[in-house]
Amino acid sequence: MEFKKCMRCGCFFMSDNDVCCNCQSRDKMDIAKLNSILDENNNFNSVQDLSILSGININNLNRYIANNQISNLNINL
Ligand SMILES: [Zn+2]
Repeated sequence: MEFKKCMRCGCFFMSDNDVCCNCQSRDKMDIAKLNSILDENNNFNSVQDLSILSGININNLNRYIANNQISNLNINL
């Protein structure tokens, strides 16, 4: 395990994850929200559009996408 800086709140923590344990539950809520949005509409012109619609920070969205935590997303670039 490494000493890391949380990618969400910036606090330091010990874990193999990108975020601290407080933020892990926030991530889970975000991802659940995203998946319910994507069930209705999974075509977006940009990550920014999805950010505006979901109210979720674009840095967090990019992190979820990079970690393959969001299924079912089509970005039309
Ligand atoms: Zn955190």
